[in-house]
Amino acid sequence: MAKRKTSHLPVAKNQRLRLTIQDLSYQGMGVGKVEGYPIFIANTLPGEDVCIHILKTKKNYAYGKLVERYTDSPDRQPLINENGLRTGTLPLQHMTYEAQLAFKQDQVQRTYAKHPQLRGIQVLPTFGMAPLEPYRNKAQIPVGEKDGQLITGFYRQGSHDIIPVEDFVIQLSGMDEAILAVRNILNAMGVPAYQERLHRGLIRHIIVRKGYYTGEVMVILVINGHELPGEDQIVERITQAVPGLVSLVLNQNTRDTNVILGPDNRILWGLPYYRDQILGQTYHISPQSFFQVNTRQAEHLYTLALEMADLGEADVVLDAYCGIGTITLNIAKKARQVYGVEVVPEAIDMARVNARLNGIDGVDFVAGKAEEVIYDWIQAGIRPNVVFVDPPRKGLAEDFIQAVIQLAPEKIVYISCNPASQARDMALFFQAGYQANTAQPVDMFPGSHHVECVVSLTRV
Ligand code: SAH
Repeated sequence: MAKRKTSHLPVAKNQRLRLTIQDLSYQGMGVGKVEGYPIFIANTLPGEDVCIHILKTKKNYAYGKLVERYTDSPDRQPLINENGLRTGTLPLQHMTYEAQLAFKQDQVQRTYAKHPQLRGIQVLPTFGMAPLEPYRNKAQIPVGEKDGQLITGFYRQGSHDIIPVEDFVIQLSGMDEAILAVRNILNAMGVPAYQERLHRGLIRHIIVRKGYYTGEVMVILVINGHELPGEDQIVERITQAVPGLVSLVLNQNTRDTNVILGPDNRILWGLPYYRDQILGQTYHISPQSFFQVNTRQAEHLYTLALEMADLGEADVVLDAYCGIGTITLNIAKKARQVYGVEVVPEAIDMARVNARLNGIDGVDFVAGKAEEVIYDWIQAGIRPNVVFVDPPRKGLAEDFIQAVIQLAPEKIVYISCNPASQARDMALFFQAGYQANTAQPVDMFPGSHHVECVVSLTRV
């Protein structure tokens, strides 16, 4: 796009105008254009004729707010919860669920299309779930203060102001109530909220995690300090107020950071873990451990990935970014031997416990960075013929990719929560002689723009 001077932008802040929405951004915002200059507007869909108010202009794009809609897209459905648009939890809620699934498939397709080598991959329809079924098993809720009272909610998109929210819509039953109960207890006990700007105050986040199958609840209080004044009474009240509670944890995070959890946990009451199940096996989950936030869809995701891998008794498998071993143990049931690597040591402790708990042999877990441990394994003569990867949003480390190429496994099963980094990494594997026919998006986060995608790459 040609560079413009700000003074020559085709629209100005606070201007009102009428336009037709042409496209959707990757975040699910409607895109309208004036002289080719894109304007992003939440809660609008392609084809809709709308009146908007310009909120903010930048050199190459602007944000607008919907004032009035003159026509409705056939893909539109009534809003479920206005807050979800402002906080970013339900940015796609105005789209029918079918349209959401098609949007996600299209997002993956467009992302892959930026890499010429990947254009042959057929992106399959998104694997969805029952529309509007609450799914989140984990809530990390910031705590603030208003008129001297504690408030809980979500940050307004692009800001650090908390919008008070009591009905989060997407969380498993009882979780919203647990958040409110804990907040009210802390409020009654006079615990001050953490103030991010001043790096002062105490309670930063209330985290609630719940086992979809077990109903077990873990509550984590994240504080900017080491002591909770009135601790005994707070503990007693929380244990009485939260049904299903099995673990109450104090997490100390005194750093000036937006990373939610600090390094130190103290168990205030109960167990150092809670439990959930995946495909019939039970997992212990500790405060620092990753666990897919949508238990039911995680089962489908893993099943699809395992089907793609088509493992047999002779296979030796590497499972990188393995967390608490949820994929690893399912691989172990089919393959000869599986090696799991994960950077969070506590998650590896859990993974070992989980293997024992479910009576599974033939697994070997190592705590460390995948991009380092893989070279130790190569040194030790370990030669996996199948590699699973499930990295965080930033994707695979370049060193890790080089090591896998050196190992030359027959198959690489790549699970990703970010198609952009997945496409970048897959392009490198393609250059090294791998190919893939299909990609399977899975909807792990209904109502949000996030998309998970699994691809099986084969060496040719
Ligand atoms: N496969 C697991 C976890 C996936 S999430 C599951 O499905 O539950 C990604 C995991 O990668 C997280 O547990 C995170 O702690 C871990 N991780 C992040 N960077 C890593 C690295 N460099 N090496 C190994 N693991 C890493």
